[in-house]
Amino acid sequence: MKQVYLDNAATSFPKAPGVGQAMADYLERVGCNISRGGYQPAYDAAQTVLEVRESLSRLLGAPGGRNVIFTPGATYSLNFLLKGLLRPGDRVVTSPMEHNAVLRPLTQLERQGVEIDYLPCTETGELCLEQVADHLTPDTRTLVLTHASNVSGTVFPLAEVGALCRARGIFFLVDAAQTAGVLPIDMAAMGIDGLALPGHKGLLGPQGIGVLALTNSLAQALEPLVSGGTGSLSESLEMPPFLPDRLEAGTLNLPGIFGLGAALRYLESEGPALRERERRLAGHLWARMMELEEDGLRVLGSRDPARRTGVVSIDFLHADNGEMAFRLEQEYGLQTRCGLHCAPLAHRTLGSFPQGAVRFSVGPFTTFAELDYAQGAVYELLME
Ligand code: PLP
Repeated sequence: MKQVYLDNAATSFPKAPGVGQAMADYLERVGCNISRGGYQPAYDAAQTVLEVRESLSRLLGAPGGRNVIFTPGATYSLNFLLKGLLRPGDRVVTSPMEHNAVLRPLTQLERQGVEIDYLPCTETGELCLEQVADHLTPDTRTLVLTHASNVSGTVFPLAEVGALCRARGIFFLVDAAQTAGVLPIDMAAMGIDGLALPGHKGLLGPQGIGVLALTNSLAQALEPLVSGGTGSLSESLEMPPFLPDRLEAGTLNLPGIFGLGAALRYLESEGPALRERERRLAGHLWARMMELEEDGLRVLGSRDPARRTGVVSIDFLHADNGEMAFRLEQEYGLQTRCGLHCAPLAHRTLGSFPQGAVRFSVGPFTTFAELDYAQGAVYELLME
């Protein structure tokens, strides 16, 4: 039986060509640390790391390469942002469509006296934009929002929300785990102060490397959550005041950065064509699943294909979703993800709690034939 990977929202597979090779090359031929060695290979490796920062800065519309901090992943970036910024008595606004990478740090902070306010969303998981301004009270320190839900695929209107935050001096933080490399992101134009993303999803890079991109004013307000050696200003017991060192202590994940660099080079040359293809795949998957709504399933999320990513979650109305996902894998070789997708409040909003849903998610290397095959398999299960 052929295996069809449709879990790109969890992590992209396959990775961009050249990623594995770049990681192996670093480990086998370079090997040394950066910012700590006074010899040529260390300078060369540091130059490569700088180029990866610059490439990310261009991709994300960040203020510059030095404003790109490497982390182990989106979860860490979000923790650095939220726990570095919020103090007891602060107020934070967010949405119920967030991943637990946002909700769990916020819940920890709530226990320390941070107040959380949730923006209203519709039952298809769309933000009630006209109500956002009412929630941005003078004591609001920050608003944290996902760019697109990992459950419904619904895309949030970042530029509009960013403009509201900027007009009030509120830090706007964005979780771009589902969109970085897939949808255009421009921190400057969208009014984003802090952006969190993983290397292993839409950027088609390896696991274990993530990004925190931020403005200078946010960087000044942020307490470094992790402190330690940077190879700079070592005479001081304080973290250096400049970026990226201020927020980047300890040895970096250099194999991960070299792998991510290869992925970014691939995206720089092939990205527009890949993204157009992914957009068409996403529309196809959604349309094919929508054909089955009369046959006993519900497709979660926005009814507007222009406001969706390549994530399509379905709720079997007369069968257990977990059992259906299991059978899709066992009988058809379809690799999906079922359950609550680390986003319990999103499922409550979408009316799919506690049963969860079966999530299909495309990547740029998915084929239209695979999506037709997946739809046929779902149809056969529904018809039993
Ligand atoms: N935010 C969203 C919307 C996600 O989908 C994910 C991962 O599934 C994360 C955050 C966390 O990403 P990571 O596990 O790479 O840290």
